[in-house]
Amino acid sequence: MMNHLKKILIVTFIFSATFLESCDTLESINIFSTQDDVELGRQLDLEIRSNPSEYPIYNGDPMVKRYIGTRIFNHVLASSKVENREIFNYQIEIIDKPDVLNAFAIPGGYIYLYTGLLLYLNSEAALAGVIAHEIAHVEERHSTQRLTKYYGISILLGIVLGENPSTIAEIAANLFVGLAFLANSRNDEEEADDNSYKYLKDTRYYPGGVKFFFEKLQFDGLIDSSSSKIETFLSTHPDPIERINNINQMLLQDGIGVKDFQSNDPDMYRDDYFTYIKNKL
Ligand SMILES: [Zn+2]
Repeated sequence: MMNHLKKILIVTFIFSATFLESCDTLESINIFSTQDDVELGRQLDLEIRSNPSEYPIYNGDPMVKRYIGTRIFNHVLASSKVENREIFNYQIEIIDKPDVLNAFAIPGGYIYLYTGLLLYLNSEAALAGVIAHEIAHVEERHSTQRLTKYYGISILLGIVLGENPSTIAEIAANLFVGLAFLANSRNDEEEADDNSYKYLKDTRYYPGGVKFFFEKLQFDGLIDSSSSKIETFLSTHPDPIERINNINQMLLQDGIGVKDFQSNDPDMYRDDYFTYIKNKL
């Protein structure tokens, strides 16, 4: 995975990082290679697929996944701002849990959408925003950045004690037990929203799509709700109001009209969303 000198240097950096917690440069240290991301993702994806009670793969109308994959996912991936589409193993899967309003990405390009989220959204622009946000987590390698922080000290102890360093397989197994560990930091969420906006600017969709989900939650009075499905969502996606404001700010700076989730303009692709996705679930 990495040679010893590199490990020692990196671990030194990580110890420094604990004293300089909010420094952006140190935030982006990653001891994993992009190929490690791909391998970690491949193993986690296998774990997910072999646990149907926790992650039941949607097996309804196959056209839903095909439509999302070709019409939305591939279109967003084709944005010139997505730089690693040839390196990562980009693919989507739908998890059949109508009560979960969430989506998540694991390293290496694997992105999962819950049917609860698909049933809740009401335009392709909104879904494109979420997908672009998840692609951004993969592109920025947020998971292995956090793993770097988490495993940095263990790796140093491994060197001192003469133990073998953790392998990708061990990391994948540990990670799968606590997938919640992949929950993103507030900075990671902001960066993923910013990138979502940049990616969508290069597509047929309204670039502020990522905020529509938060706007609908707010409109439905669900942000302050203590209902369990919202807890699930808010535990991994903090500060919805601030994130709406952040996207609106970027739209204003670029001179793009601020629309909300109820807009019916052509760049929302609202009718197509109902015809090809929502009404088929
Ligand atoms: Zn996120």
